[in-house]
Amino acid sequence: MQAIGIDIGGTKIAGGVVTEFGEIVDEERVATPAGDAGAIVDAVVDMITSLQARHPGVVAAGVAAPGFIDAAQSTVYYTPNIAWRNEPLRARLSERLDLHITIDNDANAAGWAEFRFGAGRLASDMTMLTIGTGVGGAIVAQDRLLRGGFGTGGELGHMRIVPDGLPCGCGARGCIEQYGSGRALLRIAGEVADEGGVGRALAQLRDESGELSGHDVSTLLQSGDPGAVEALRRLGTWLGQAAASLSAILDPQVFVFGGGVAQSGELLLAPVRAAYLEHLPARGYHPEPEFVIAELVNDAGVVGAADLARLHATDR
Ligand SMILES: [Zn+2]
Repeated sequence: MQAIGIDIGGTKIAGGVVTEFGEIVDEERVATPAGDAGAIVDAVVDMITSLQARHPGVVAAGVAAPGFIDAAQSTVYYTPNIAWRNEPLRARLSERLDLHITIDNDANAAGWAEFRFGAGRLASDMTMLTIGTGVGGAIVAQDRLLRGGFGTGGELGHMRIVPDGLPCGCGARGCIEQYGSGRALLRIAGEVADEGGVGRALAQLRDESGELSGHDVSTLLQSGDPGAVEALRRLGTWLGQAAASLSAILDPQVFVFGGGVAQSGELLLAPVRAAYLEHLPARGYHPEPEFVIAELVNDAGVVGAADLARLHATDR
């Protein structure tokens, strides 16, 4: 049974026809009409219509969007970069499409895809942290995606780990997003550069180009530069502390790390694991979860949105 998944990203809208085994058999993508909520809805309708025309057997379409989505998978309470405020997106799409529609948060869709078909497929309980520009999260508890009572749960990036810490874009202070994200890695790399010592190559690159970019840091990481590795170690230490707190609440068998920064693999996971063990309550007696990198790098949103829509359409 096939379903359509649509992932509305900041720069592109990706869509695909996905089998019940998580395979994408047809794909489309267009640039996201920036800042124009109506044009985004039009683009999603066009994409679903065209995919459905080529695959008339699809049973549902799931749309993944950033922001807060209600527990009924219908209404977008809020999106950061699109002017959706309490937007009845499911109803808007349903009135123009002859197909079962659901809406989900993009990080939740990506996490669900990892749980069903990727790095979390052998677990019943999985916590995913997506380390991109910010920090996204998804929780699967006892084989179910944990959306929370209002639908806005699993926003792991805004878990506070430093009282009165750095201000966050969400309005609070000390969120893990300010210590464990790609943007935080650049700030920490700058601190390592300022300290001299192992930060020499970082400092030199910063002097040459004016400021450090994500590309600079990842190039240095690939060459094993000790300063870049140290910056990633500090980032991983924050994430490991956060994972220890999450374990006390959720007790997952596996933590999955996705997003661009997670491409550094074991260089990130080793300090995460070390800090996790150090901060774990009742350490020594708590079974150790696995720490792994996400497997469905670019397609997770599409695959997860399609699978959640298929389950919604066929389960009830
Ligand atoms: Zn925050």
